[in-house]
Amino acid sequence: MSAPIIEKIPSAGTNTDTKKVFVKTYGCQMNVYDSQRMADALAKDGYVETSSMDDADMVLLNTCHIREKAAEKVYSEIGRIRMVREEKRANGGDLMIGVAGCVAQAEGKEIIKRAPAVDFVIGPTTYHRLGEVVAKAKTGKKVVETEYAVEDKFEHLPAPAKKVMMSRGVTSFLTVQEGCDKFCTFCVVPYTRGSEVSRPVSQIMDEAKRLVDAGVREITLLGQNVNAWHGAGGDDREWGLGELLYKLAEIDGLKRLRYVTSHPRDMDDALIEAHRDLSMLMPYLHLPVQSGSDKILKAMNRKHTGDDYRKLIDRIRSARPDIALSGDFIVGFPGETDEDFEDTMQIVRDVTHAAAYSFKYSTRPGTPGADMPNQVPEDVKSERLQRLQALLTQQQKDFMQSLVGKNMDVLIEKPGREAGQIVGRSPWLQPVICHESVGEVGDIVNVKISQVMVNSLVSDTIATKLGQ
Ligand code: SAM
Ligand code: SF4
Repeated sequence: MSAPIIEKIPSAGTNTDTKKVFVKTYGCQMNVYDSQRMADALAKDGYVETSSMDDADMVLLNTCHIREKAAEKVYSEIGRIRMVREEKRANGGDLMIGVAGCVAQAEGKEIIKRAPAVDFVIGPTTYHRLGEVVAKAKTGKKVVETEYAVEDKFEHLPAPAKKVMMSRGVTSFLTVQEGCDKFCTFCVVPYTRGSEVSRPVSQIMDEAKRLVDAGVREITLLGQNVNAWHGAGGDDREWGLGELLYKLAEIDGLKRLRYVTSHPRDMDDALIEAHRDLSMLMPYLHLPVQSGSDKILKAMNRKHTGDDYRKLIDRIRSARPDIALSGDFIVGFPGETDEDFEDTMQIVRDVTHAAAYSFKYSTRPGTPGADMPNQVPEDVKSERLQRLQALLTQQQKDFMQSLVGKNMDVLIEKPGREAGQIVGRSPWLQPVICHESVGEVGDIVNVKISQVMVNSLVSDTIATKLGQ
């Protein structure tokens, strides 16, 4: 859930009264999905996406507030955009600047105070009102739209045109759940994204079918706490994520399913059974534990212990023996001693990961962690992070190395960087470089892995060794 992503959405389609929007996305996959939905909303008003700020009429920053650095990046970017706007104005043009996402929600009108160049600010629950917000901002008013919407945002957001969906590739995100009620003491999400909301089954199925009809072969269900999803199934019962996955698996043409990000407390039996029964549910699970110390887990309000997590992993692995794990870790949470940190190192050694994200604890104003005593000095956090990352990197290398000589199914996603290559995705999310003759984008092909590169695998369909 937390891989830092900065992504520009590719341009898609044209319109008679063409205006261009450049959307820049910070943070998690949920923001990537939201950026697409905002672009869909703007398409109604004649905007098409551009991948360059220079030819844009509007820049929309979809921001992340999870750590201090992520939020600060936004302000330096606004400064840069203001310069571009001044240049445009000097040449008779203009550029509208909008800030969306979690910084928008958390800071609201403070953004306009600190960065008066911004024309509008819009929070994540009101993206369906983006058109109205832009129209108001065009009259010269500064607009701040961060009130939680009572109406269902997803009901009101327009579906993208089929050709737009087709331009976005064969894998897609689909948000099924937003917000969080867990209130981990380090985390801003319950404040920026609001309380937990699950979309109903019918809405999710409709969107999934539209995506598959446009050529999508792999769907990743998204939620800040995706495995807490519990939606109206249309049969007077509340469904859980496990049941939803079985239903999605019935869609003709859909080949792969994933979901992210999960909380250990919400891994119920039905979900574990879905991993056992559904071969199209990829054997890769991002299940953050954050710390291995029971004392720190308690202070974080995670409501489980290190051993609860170990037992859970054992159950998941017995259901699906080829499953690989990924996680998030925070080092230097207030009160973390050398011993507590050692417990984190131990849980990493015990569980073993195919990939993981690890962070220094970042104080977030307004969260309980910010006021806790015994904040850990920066140099101690840095040293611990370095040791943890060395261990996690080694585990990732070992995992990738273990795939050499094995055959695996790969979903072909796009042409490779070099002529004659095509790149796909392994069941465990690594890019796999193949010879273009193996198949076409959207195909699932079975290839043998012959070599490991830093972050990707090379199949034996590539005769020459790459990067050497
Ligand atoms: N819902 C997921 C869970 O319960 O594990 C996590 C989602 S959160 C948006 C993504 C990750 O950011 C967290 O797992 C955590 O490791 C990291 N994170 C959140 N707040 C943080 C903070 N204040 N400092 C450092 N890392 C933080
Ligand atoms: Fe943040 Fe905890 Fe909710 Fe995850 S479960 S989003 S870490 S409050």
